Amino acid sequence: MKLFLKSYWLTGAVAVAASAAYVLFSPSNENSKRLKSNQKGIRLSGLVNEGNTCFINTTLQALASCQLFLQWMENLLIKKSEILSAGSSCASLLTTMSVINNRHPTIQADPYSTKELMVSLHKHGWNLLRMEEQDAHEFFNQLLTTIEEETRSPKINLQTISVSETVNVVSNTSSPFRGYLASQLCCLSCGKKAPVHYDVFECLSITLPKLDIHNAFTIFSIEDLLKQFVAPETVNGVHCDNCSTNDSKNVFVKQLSLGKIPQCLCLHIQRSEWSNSGNLTKRQDFVRFQEELNVSNLVYTNRLTENWKPVVYHLRAVVEHLGTAHSGHFVTFRQHSMEGRVKWFYTSDTFVRAATIKEVMKSSPYMLFYERAL
Ligand SMILES: [Zn+2]
Repeated sequence: MKLFLKSYWLTGAVAVAASAAYVLFSPSNENSKRLKSNQKGIRLSGLVNEGNTCFINTTLQALASCQLFLQWMENLLIKKSEILSAGSSCASLLTTMSVINNRHPTIQADPYSTKELMVSLHKHGWNLLRMEEQDAHEFFNQLLTTIEEETRSPKINLQTISVSETVNVVSNTSSPFRGYLASQLCCLSCGKKAPVHYDVFECLSITLPKLDIHNAFTIFSIEDLLKQFVAPETVNGVHCDNCSTNDSKNVFVKQLSLGKIPQCLCLHIQRSEWSNSGNLTKRQDFVRFQEELNVSNLVYTNRLTENWKPVVYHLRAVVEHLGTAHSGHFVTFRQHSMEGRVKWFYTSDTFVRAATIKEVMKSSPYMLFYERAL
């Protein structure tokens, strides 16, 4: 852990200056040669720690492993070329991910600086320049909110979409991380179901079950945590239009499910907790996960029929937090694929090395990034 903490303070590395916008053109002969030589070794670039910015670096490395997200960003910038204007966060983000994946046609930098991206996010009101340690999950939300602001995607009105269509609704301008949670109340007395209510999500935040006082450290599986996340919840004191008389109230059951499944699934495991004595603590519980995640039984339309459609995701990256609730360091295990070859890497700010799948599976996830199996 000392090694990880040491890299946390690395700030002095020099990055090659970046062009203001992501350049969408074919690589020159020289660049083609460089890309070819990189493909042989498949290497990635690290990111400069600009002063407690490992929470930014870890998120960017994880996002750069999500091919569907990268493709969506590239298509978006082709369609909406005005977003390419110098200083936009979308352009800076795509440039950064392209450089760390060693696919940028003109910029080669290892490590690369995130300053330009931070300045663009600052213009959107995010104060990332105060050099305080922040949270990777918060940053992920800030980044997606900023992309939304710059691309101004229209909101989908799911209430007007029939149940059978719900799962397959895809908006070209919505982030591939965007999904909808469906919640439905059902009266326990008469069984009448209320209309489905949809809530947007870009990341599912999952809480860990309360600890048994005799068992301070527990092992959970991500499947069990997701099952618990959508477990039926009792809601008291609801008036039922169908069977309640006058002002009487009934007991309802609230059932959560995945109303619209995202192309990229981000899971956040809430590890910070307030203790009874009022101190912020970190849950160190081990959460098991697999390279393949099957969420078929969580999908709303699957619950309505016996002919389930399989919904399977493939693991792309794991963000791990090392340390305590008050200080620590974020690192990322991430996948990178090129010409059909898939490799795993460990990234910690400027430091990048190859990793084994065994190591990845032993990590303690804070965030998991999955992509829908095509
Ligand atoms: Zn009722």
